[in-house]
Amino acid sequence: MADIFDLVIIGSGPAGLSAAIYAERARLKTVVLEKSGMSGGQILNTYEVDNYPGLQGINGFDMGMKFREHADYLGAKFKDADVIGITDEAGLKKIPTTAGDFLTKTIIIASGASYAKLGITGENQFGGKGVSYCATCDGAFFRNKTTAVIGGGDVAVEDAIFLARTCEKVYLIHRRNELRAAMVLQEALFEQKNIEVIWDSVAEEIQGNDFVEHLSIKNVKTNEKRTLDLQGVFIAVGLNPNSDFLKNVVAMDDKGYVIAEEDGVTNVPGIFVAGDVRTKMLRQIVTAVSDGANAVTSVQHYLISHK
Ligand code: NAP
Repeated sequence: MADIFDLVIIGSGPAGLSAAIYAERARLKTVVLEKSGMSGGQILNTYEVDNYPGLQGINGFDMGMKFREHADYLGAKFKDADVIGITDEAGLKKIPTTAGDFLTKTIIIASGASYAKLGITGENQFGGKGVSYCATCDGAFFRNKTTAVIGGGDVAVEDAIFLARTCEKVYLIHRRNELRAAMVLQEALFEQKNIEVIWDSVAEEIQGNDFVEHLSIKNVKTNEKRTLDLQGVFIAVGLNPNSDFLKNVVAMDDKGYVIAEEDGVTNVPGIFVAGDVRTKMLRQIVTAVSDGANAVTSVQHYLISHK
């Protein structure tokens, strides 16, 4: 007879790790399923986190390791498993995965979000050959080279600042004439002499031979076209929720975010959600860890009322 868990947490980013910490302290029989074989989620690719209280300027990778160490210290169990779906099984939830089936009374979905793609010509062709979605992972390959970052949010501005430390020149290409990024990041951006912001412009095509050589862009106000000579294109145009495995399982919005308030309660009894994959106003580490704690509290209420 397979183990029956009180709680299975799907995902081991900040939301999943926070949930694991709270679940261990609540003495729930819990396992955390992680897809990539590595805890931490998106913060592993963040050079510096400067808005988490008490840990100013911490490297994202170090922060992920600290969260994981805390969960380990409390006895949390982890399993490498890619979740395929969720079904009902005799009053329990069954989670088929690449590592077999898991049976549980409750689930917290903390599967996070992944980089969105632009969908332009050359993006797929030059993936890993000059096109990247992670400046902190790949930026070192572009020392003394020219690169472009596409986007106007926190990630795009952080990436441009990060790349400017080693690249000769960095273009930041944004489709509007106003950035969405936090003001503190914008101030740091405008201090960099080797960053040129190209406003009101969209990327149209990435060209090259074996590696990226050019990026064609268009000004959306004047329709003027321009070709930039460069070696790297970093795409930072937001996130898509990791929720494909939840189709026909829980209610989601039109973008695929799982619908729930702060308590993490979904439309399906026994299934809860936490972190970036939830419908919410602000997707940051501090809100993800808060979600994890709230979702475990909802799990506890549910287990008490379904004894
Ligand atoms: P984001 O805030 O959604 O910004 C995406 C940017 O890409 C926007 O500027 C958007 O333009 C642009 N964009 C979207 N689709 C595009 C397209 N097809 N073509 C051209 N441009 C496009 O995403 P993010 O920067 O990846 O950040 C994701 C979340 O993580 C956010 O909630 C952010 O606050 C959070 N985050 C926080 C921190 C921090 O606090 N230190 C660091 C990183 C990320 P428009 O502005 O015109 O919509």
